[in-house]
Amino acid sequence: MAPRIAPRDDIALMDGYHSPQVSVDVRLNTNESPLPPPAGFVAALADHIASVDWNRYPDRGATELRARLAELHGVDADQVFAANGSNEVLQTLSLTYGGPGRAIAVFEPTYAMHSQIGRITGATVAVGGRAADLSLDPQEVGRVLAESSPAITYLCSPNNPTGLVETRETVLDVLAQVEAIGGLLVVDEAYGQFAPWSALELISDDRPLVVTRTYSKTWSMAAVRLGYLIGPAWVVAELEKVVLPYHLDSLSQAAGILALRYVDDMEQRVSLLTEERGRLDAALRDLPLEVWPSAANFILFRPTAADADEVWQGLVDRSVLVRNCSGWPGLQGCLRVTIGTRDDDDRFLTALREVLT
Ligand SMILES: *Cc1c(COP(=O)(O)O)cnc(C)c1O
Repeated sequence: MAPRIAPRDDIALMDGYHSPQVSVDVRLNTNESPLPPPAGFVAALADHIASVDWNRYPDRGATELRARLAELHGVDADQVFAANGSNEVLQTLSLTYGGPGRAIAVFEPTYAMHSQIGRITGATVAVGGRAADLSLDPQEVGRVLAESSPAITYLCSPNNPTGLVETRETVLDVLAQVEAIGGLLVVDEAYGQFAPWSALELISDDRPLVVTRTYSKTWSMAAVRLGYLIGPAWVVAELEKVVLPYHLDSLSQAAGILALRYVDDMEQRVSLLTEERGRLDAALRDLPLEVWPSAANFILFRPTAADADEVWQGLVDRSVLVRNCSGWPGLQGCLRVTIGTRDDDDRFLTALREVLT
């Protein structure tokens, strides 16, 4: 038999993205919203389907969606770039500004896709660390930037999987450093609506800063692949050269536009989950666990007297799925639980108490 074609050497060595889709009753592993979007949104989208020109390509520039998002954030439409999930936004950034011969910088532990997409698109990944409490020290950023002069520097705020927010001072400090080396700072705000402040307020055509957002979490729309960035118009113009033509289908665009009619509902869901997070956090602190304070819709914790893999399996055996982060850089023995409904979280707590005793 003729030999099979091998993938690129670096791809052959790579591990794919692993987030097991196990069939359980209580799914608290991927930070989705436990609540559906409003019924009015679903009905409006169903109505819209009848008016789609199915034989025609979608609006390539996603004109209306970008105009609505620009309104929401008080920026110009040419400062908005939308794509199939914020992961496609990140990939397009990487294809445009990263790639062979360039570096991207991440500070572990953080969202795995930043480095994964960096590598797949051919860049070198410069990895910085965090302090023992998982906070980011701007001096460490300085060290990594001096060493590798990355084209793209990633921050994630609130950070997945730690839940920690970067302060305005830290973001401004990192931004000044990135600006000094002629790089681009990407702040991933997938959980931005849960946080006390947003780097969106720093966006300007004069700063090499973009902020990414997603419909997957706070908008309860993970099933629609839709995310976007707000940034300088000159960045958006470059991204548009790179992304595939007609990449964002008509239905996703319509879903994104219609969802924005329900900003108040979204904000109510965010407050509800924030309150529930407080309840879950307090309950976790009564157990033999190290618990990180979260400004997102998930909580990172570490069993202090039990093996994380065994705790994870014990929860699965009780039909509760959380994220096992214990193999991630800097997160030995850690698990991450998404804030669910009160019922979901009670089932999780009951199962966890059983497993830990
Ligand atoms: C969930 C998540 C995303 C989401 O990506 P989508 O492609 O929009 O679903 C992006 N960044 C972070 C940090 C996330 O946790």
